[in-house]
Amino acid sequence: MAAKPLSEKKLKEFKAIIKAELEESMAYVDDVNKDQSRGARESSGDLSSYAYHQADQGSDTNLMEQNVMMLEHEREKIRLLNDALRKIHEGRFGICELCGENISESRLEVIPYAKYCIECMSKMEDKKRRQRK
Ligand SMILES: [Zn+2]
Repeated sequence: MAAKPLSEKKLKEFKAIIKAELEESMAYVDDVNKDQSRGARESSGDLSSYAYHQADQGSDTNLMEQNVMMLEHEREKIRLLNDALRKIHEGRFGICELCGENISESRLEVIPYAKYCIECMSKMEDKKRRQRK
């Protein structure tokens, strides 16, 4: 069964979603970078950028670690989102990189930068889980 490309309308929708997420992620990375260059000082007065993290965080050490992890995560996401945009241009968007089948639209709506279909993804997760044990 060959994968069929998404409709122009759908592609446009996903492109808009991806661009919005990309901007959000880049703004976030920018923010954290600015915070870090200011030094890891206590958040005296300026709570705006910390409020989100502090909601369920304990110590400052955890906060820093959390920031680094979030930053890594966001950077990876930016990379994937850029990949997804390129795929839209190349007409390969929404196609699983592993089996070449369509990735379901409901999955793309949740993760517009998904590289694999749900079947391949769960197979890989299984493998990872087994390797870890
Ligand atoms: Zn697949």
